[in-house]
Amino acid sequence: MSKSRQEFLAENPDVAKMTFQITWPARVAKGFKYSGLTNAERMKLYRSTPEGRAVMDYHAALRRRRMFGNGDYDVVYRSQVFMRDCGVCQLCDEPVDPFDFHIDHIMPIALGGLHKYENVQLAHPSCNQKKGARV
Ligand SMILES: [Zn+2]
Repeated sequence: MSKSRQEFLAENPDVAKMTFQITWPARVAKGFKYSGLTNAERMKLYRSTPEGRAVMDYHAALRRRRMFGNGDYDVVYRSQVFMRDCGVCQLCDEPVDPFDFHIDHIMPIALGGLHKYENVQLAHPSCNQKKGARV
């Protein structure tokens, strides 16, 4: 089981200090308004500033750590998942575009799910986004 964010930050005070420094001034200075925005719009705002990109990179690193840090993962081939699930979205039972599909984690990585074949399923990008970090 990977470490929680709190544990990770407690052991890495420099990272904790850095994330605090880059997140709060960025939010305050840019006047980011979180209410009334969709997640995609927040991401777009975030990506538009160097501070925001740094925060996103940090979270991407945390996600990679959760996914691969404990060594208990499969090398998941998208094509294998596509064939196993017969090209059908497992969230809405409709066929997906073979050139535009997502691999959804049944138990989300954020909730401790593993990046393994038995924990992934085929999904439309739109269905996967609606599901988010939920089971
Ligand atoms: Zn779907």
